[in-house]
Amino acid sequence: MQSIKGLNLEELENILKAWNEPSFHARQIFSWIYKKGAVDFSMMSDLPFVLREQLKKDFCFSDLKPVKVFKSKDGTKKLLLALKDKNFIEAVSIPAKNRLTGCISTQVGCRFSCKFCASARLGFRRNLSTQEMIDEILCLKNNSLDRKLTHFVFMGIGEPLDNYDNVIKTIRIVNSAESLNIGSRRITISSCGLIPQMKRLSGEGLQIELSISLHAADNKTRSGLMPVNKIYPLEDLLCACKEYIVKTRRQITFEYVLIKGVNSKIQDALNLARILKGLKLCKINLIPANSIAELHIEPAGKLETLLFRDCLLKKGMNVTLRKPCGRDIEASCGQLQLRYHCCPN
Ligand code: SAH
Repeated sequence: MQSIKGLNLEELENILKAWNEPSFHARQIFSWIYKKGAVDFSMMSDLPFVLREQLKKDFCFSDLKPVKVFKSKDGTKKLLLALKDKNFIEAVSIPAKNRLTGCISTQVGCRFSCKFCASARLGFRRNLSTQEMIDEILCLKNNSLDRKLTHFVFMGIGEPLDNYDNVIKTIRIVNSAESLNIGSRRITISSCGLIPQMKRLSGEGLQIELSISLHAADNKTRSGLMPVNKIYPLEDLLCACKEYIVKTRRQITFEYVLIKGVNSKIQDALNLARILKGLKLCKINLIPANSIAELHIEPAGKLETLLFRDCLLKKGMNVTLRKPCGRDIEASCGQLQLRYHCCPN
């Protein structure tokens, strides 16, 4: 059965028209789902009874169930969510001073096999539908009633641009004034660098933020870390980034995970500054690697990390160093994975 949350406002209005119902009920339904936190159709008290019954007959309300909440000492929360086909995904909320960011999974598993990422370990199972991603977002919202979610990053399990249509539809729903009304500049997609989809994205007219996971400044190192580099090597990727920036006039953030003994030497920083030099609007976000026991990944040392950053700063680059959140509950970058095959206790 179709879920009500996979629909945008226009689709819902068209369904109501086909039922000979006034289309303004669509806005009321949206308001119940996205603003008033309704958990089923019976709560929608300003809708005619017959319409509520019809909705119940034709649509299900929710596609996932929260089964466990993990709370970090830094305030980060990770929700373990069960899907209807008995798969599990994870969604995370990360508090900061003036914002609460929701980190959304886009796939069950991931097909890109990055060597440092826990999410890749079990391979790819399937894409998440728009309604499942909307449900993830609403579960996070219902789990932080004291604070409003202000930002969303599509950086959880999966590769968002590999589930392009569903992710873009989700973003447009979250962005619309009738639902959560989250400004597009507060929404980030993070990608391992799928060039055809980046080209498509540049034509969407969305003012969202794009992050590209770079993690190395030469093809040998990047292909060793990210097999996708063999399909879309660095020179092609950077060319696509340049085109994206020119077309959208938006900045790209390059993510760079610092891994001890792999990509954290001064020479790597110099190479990074050199290859990004031609890009007018770009930022580098350095991420201390999160250790993942099964993958034997170790973060670069503190001093090495600071020297790396300072080298980029001296070269005139715009650099930030990400503060890791939720490490104690495995909710930080690259730590989300399909650890559960049955309901945990
Ligand atoms: N597939 C997307 C989004 C998911 S990963 C992408 O590749 O961007 C979100 C971010 O976490 C990416 O930059 C990813 O490279 C990073 N990441 C993965 N494993 C990590 C680890 N062990 N430590 C720190 N960051 C990691």
